Amino acid sequence: MRADRVFIFGMDCMAPQLVFEQWRHELPNLARLADGGAWGELRSTDPPITVPAWTAMMTSKDPGTLGFYGFRNRKSYDYDELYFANASYVKEKTLWQLLSRNRKTSVVLGVPQTYPPKPLNGTLVGCFLTPDKGTSYTYPDEVKYELDRLAEGDYIIDVKDFRTEDKDALLEHIYTMTRRRFMVVRDWVKTKDWDFFMFVEMGVDRIHHAFWRYHDVNHRLYEKGHKLEFAIRDYYKYVDEQIGTVLALIPKDTQIWVVSDHGARTMAGAVCVNEFFMREGLLTLKDKPAKPTKLKTSNIDWSKTACWGEGGYYSRIFMNVKGREPQGIIEPSDYERTRDMIKAKLEALGDEKGNPIGTVAHKPEDLYRTVNNVAPDLIVYFGDLAWRSAGSVGMDALHVFENDTGPDDANHAKEGMFILSGPGVVPGKREGTRIYDVAPTVLSTLGIPVPEDMIGKVIK
Ligand SMILES: [Zn+2]
Repeated sequence: MRADRVFIFGMDCMAPQLVFEQWRHELPNLARLADGGAWGELRSTDPPITVPAWTAMMTSKDPGTLGFYGFRNRKSYDYDELYFANASYVKEKTLWQLLSRNRKTSVVLGVPQTYPPKPLNGTLVGCFLTPDKGTSYTYPDEVKYELDRLAEGDYIIDVKDFRTEDKDALLEHIYTMTRRRFMVVRDWVKTKDWDFFMFVEMGVDRIHHAFWRYHDVNHRLYEKGHKLEFAIRDYYKYVDEQIGTVLALIPKDTQIWVVSDHGARTMAGAVCVNEFFMREGLLTLKDKPAKPTKLKTSNIDWSKTACWGEGGYYSRIFMNVKGREPQGIIEPSDYERTRDMIKAKLEALGDEKGNPIGTVAHKPEDLYRTVNNVAPDLIVYFGDLAWRSAGSVGMDALHVFENDTGPDDANHAKEGMFILSGPGVVPGKREGTRIYDVAPTVLSTLGIPVPEDMIGKVIK
């Protein structure tokens, strides 16, 4: 496969079962691309989370090699609060950096983990990690004025708070954001020089998390006939139509991708991981709060604590190891035995009725080629990601059905989606495609040698 240019529609969280099965006949532009191209599931990273998934896609490196394991990571083995891994923590070369070296020009718009922006041969607009538009979030810097001018006066990086009760306002805000982003894309496709063009729409992820209960008949709170029942479907149709307007502007002989960083699935509830550790005698607090409260490391009695966990779509478990953590109690010689014990306990924990849910606790060294920086001791998918992890304490329950950080109905699934269309692509469904395969395939398409340390392989 060779092409002069590559265009990537990045759709954060776009779900393969919705695009390829449920709504295949309602999304004409995506269906047409898939019918003429290769398509299928795209296996995400472990964990299947926006950060690190997009960067893994753009570098073809796993999270262990990248050295971050989610949005928030431990800086050291101290008990400090976690830090956000933004672009300044990305040490591996991204696709557009490799392209810049080969004198190719890129337009990169809103790809997660690109804030703060780094120089490239082309134009870059930072992602949703941008704290506010007053900062320098584009490269070159003056592009931010052009963005606002093209986007009805106010380019929206991301919706402010998708875990809100005000669903009507949120829905409108998502549409406004998406409409304006596509206005910029349509202009730049025509007016900017590019060999490689990629943008990521966050609205798909936001609408899943906020509206999944209305959409999925299997969701605990699904109500037939609710006025928001088709909010997600209608938005998919809108996005499909917008994609169609961009496709009409892309020069022939361009290789076109539609990709997501992970999929979506219904969320059954949350497992209160720290409550569980307290009941098991593995975690002791100095003061037990009477109502749900975020776990603060300053409230942990380290002399009686073997491990603690973080909330999120998956759980990260950290162990309190002698000589590693400041007040560690697990003897290093006992580390593996203790870790296996914690893993077994987590995997045996069922739902609120005690039924098995199929939790898997992974050891990072089993998932990654190398384990850089401070990895969690265990990476846990409760119910294979049907359940999220609630890190709060004072819940007085092991299972909760309201999210401790605001309403959220969907969890991430390990399977994202991809469509690949363009010169030389043999149409048909592909099995076993991984997020790591995107970058080498793009390089090979543009005639650039694939670095040997990339994990993925060129899609045939
Ligand atoms: Zn994502």
